[in-house]
Amino acid sequence: MEYEVVIGLEVHVQLRTASKIFCRCANRFGAEPNALVCAVCLGYPGTLPTLNREAVDQALRLAVALGCEIPSRSVFARKNYFYADLPKGYQISQFDQPLALRGRLALHDAGVEVPIARMHLEEDAGKLLHEAPGGGVLRGSSLVDHNRCGVPLVEIVTDPALRSAAQAQEYLQVLHQVLRYTDTSDANMEEGSLRCDANVSLRRPGAARLGTKVEVKNLNSFRNVARAIEHETHRQALVLDSGAEVQQETRSFDAASGTTRTLRGKEEAHDYRYFPEPDLPPLLVDEDRVRRLRGELPELPWTRWTRFAEQYGLREDLARQLCAQREVADYFEAVVAEGAATGAAGGAWAQNAANWTMTEVLKELNARGEGIESAVEPTRLAALLGMVARAELSQAAAKEVLAAIWGSEEEPSAATRRLGLGQVQDADRLEEWIAEVLAANPGPVEQLAAGEQKVAGFLVGQVMKLSQGRADPKLTRERLLSSVART
Ligand code: ADP
Ligand code: MG
Ligand code: ZN
Repeated sequence: MEYEVVIGLEVHVQLRTASKIFCRCANRFGAEPNALVCAVCLGYPGTLPTLNREAVDQALRLAVALGCEIPSRSVFARKNYFYADLPKGYQISQFDQPLALRGRLALHDAGVEVPIARMHLEEDAGKLLHEAPGGGVLRGSSLVDHNRCGVPLVEIVTDPALRSAAQAQEYLQVLHQVLRYTDTSDANMEEGSLRCDANVSLRRPGAARLGTKVEVKNLNSFRNVARAIEHETHRQALVLDSGAEVQQETRSFDAASGTTRTLRGKEEAHDYRYFPEPDLPPLLVDEDRVRRLRGELPELPWTRWTRFAEQYGLREDLARQLCAQREVADYFEAVVAEGAATGAAGGAWAQNAANWTMTEVLKELNARGEGIESAVEPTRLAALLGMVARAELSQAAAKEVLAAIWGSEEEPSAATRRLGLGQVQDADRLEEWIAEVLAANPGPVEQLAAGEQKVAGFLVGQVMKLSQGRADPKLTRERLLSSVART
């Protein structure tokens, strides 16, 4: 039996503020356990929360980027539950009046627009450690780190509108780009600053009602979100095929086996007993504030790659790859601008800059495990590409020069001289190579002499090979043709 898979994602994102959402403790990952705490985020009796304005601004900026509607009034609510990582015994969140509603995110590969149901602001809980710092075994106990208590979070909830694991993965990738472009989160799944739960159900194609959903937690990479959905799809299909019903429950993904297992059933589902937070007034957001934040939005990824394709004449997929990371797109545009400054503007220059950024520069960065901020500066890459454009350096030699100047301050021209990699235009050297190639290839030489022009390419190629790419191809061709004409 074939089923249609229906997926809704709930994504938690830690905002990139300097301090926590309701106190003045630093919002920072990786500090000593319990170093970033105070009476407020530890939930001491008698303390009161004070809302961090910057957290609200960042959440609003994200909401605007996602095309959400922003109600003029939203309300904080207490979400009550008992857990060792939650010192207050409740989480300050939002419930029926969230910060933002009805947004959307376009997925280019899938060709769909994902409706976002809501986005709300809340505080993070602490973190339980089940092994001692450094990896030691804890017997019958766990440790709690409160540094994360009160870190500002937004939760972004989609409609049940995704239809495959691939769509879910693309949604996360594009959302990740938006978070990085708007500078609202590190969005690092490994460090937990982006966390995703997947709700999955199946139904017969064409069925009007949605099937019973299962919520899958503990997904720590984009790939694992897709794996978990694939596994759930398969598991639920077997249940339905057997004539049984899918149980509504929360399951946990086990990355090692690629399977999910029951965490808690419907009966154990939490009843959070939400009620409006008495210690915080409703959050009022006026139109001026939204307008200001909208005006401050940077160019978003989809606008930017569309512009790259048009302005620089790049293929769409290349433009999209360049824009996947804002810093890479910035780097590319800086190389283009350097070219324009030296009069090398034009489609070919931009194309070259794009190719070199996506292949040579990223290859070098990957090999070194570094980010784009460690790359050879755009000025020096542009100087290098200028030498290639003026035929002072072959493509192959330019790659060697790039590797040589990486991590130093050497100019490409100096490195070219130092390494003896420049394009050879010296007549005597060229004639030597040509003579050697002509002597070694009497057959083709005869063909060329008889007027078979296409053999010239082969012979020039042989000279390039002999010279390890350093012979100036244009001069080589001219001299080779006149040599053959003389014989
Ligand atoms: P709950 O009240 O259980 O939290 P919500 O209505 O808040 O459920 O939805 C939570 C998430 O589950 C949303 O992302 C939503 O799109 C998704 N969802 C709801 N129903 C289904 C379903 N039948 N199949 C798949 N996803 C669903
Ligand atoms: Mg929910
Ligand atoms: Zn604090």
